[in-house]
Amino acid sequence: MSRFAVGIDLGGTKVEACLVDETRQILARKRRPSEPGLGRERVVRNILELVAETAGGALFEAVGMGTPGTYSPAADIMFGAPHTPLYEKPGLVSLLRSELEVPLIVENDANCLALAEFFAQCHGRFSTVMAVILGTGMGSGLILGNRLHRGPNGNAGEIGHTSIAIDGRTCECGRRGCGEAYLSGPSLARRYAELTGETLPPDRIFERYGAGDLHARRVFDESVRIMGELFANCVNTLDLEAIVLGGGVSNIPLWYEQVPGVMNRALFGTPGRTIPILKAVLGDSAGVLGAAYLALREMHLMEF
Ligand SMILES: [Zn+2]
Repeated sequence: MSRFAVGIDLGGTKVEACLVDETRQILARKRRPSEPGLGRERVVRNILELVAETAGGALFEAVGMGTPGTYSPAADIMFGAPHTPLYEKPGLVSLLRSELEVPLIVENDANCLALAEFFAQCHGRFSTVMAVILGTGMGSGLILGNRLHRGPNGNAGEIGHTSIAIDGRTCECGRRGCGEAYLSGPSLARRYAELTGETLPPDRIFERYGAGDLHARRVFDESVRIMGELFANCVNTLDLEAIVLGGGVSNIPLWYEQVPGVMNRALFGTPGRTIPILKAVLGDSAGVLGAAYLALREMHLMEF
């Protein structure tokens, strides 16, 4: 007899759910607006209705949920989700828990993506991997020795807020020189605008790079160096075997063509190592699938 779990990906404006069975196959997947502007009860009702609709009568045994920022059980709020103020007020998760009749496991969305991508393309090949989300911000999830490493407070893997320049550009977090202040989509756009006065999304800047635009070339030459050095810091700290890159800004081919060279030259320790940078393969399914894996682990059907 099949066993079922539900994964939820709670975003800033939408919520997505999937139903999986014990073989990790997605049997159903649905989404709807989360409507945070209408208050906490409305968000909870949206999530519960979506879960019921997605399950379609299947008796699921646990629910996993990926959230922006880091959920703190002690305070019952999500920290570090500045684009979703409602989620930073207490009570959303405890209210959801009291309505669900099965265990609810809550995890940072970058950790969910890391889990899903790890099992999709690394498991059995690499045991120690960092998955980076590059988009509006920059976050990451860590799998160390085949285990999800979240840290005692769930804050592990905040690569976007480690500094590579102590007097560098000011980040939204208030610190200077953070990776996110150079490599997120808005940061790339801002750098190009500084040089040209023109604001373009990263993929358009990359088109201009291809057409020989010297300012676009400068933006990407700088970014490649910064990303290479930042990733080398992570490899040197954690002895990573591979890095997976996902998110809206992960489609730039230079990240895969040029960053490994910069990074591998900066590695310390065992000579001759080359750490691959892999493109995420699950697209926008990764978050919801990784969340479902949390539920499958709760049911003792997965180990990580
Ligand atoms: Zn920062």
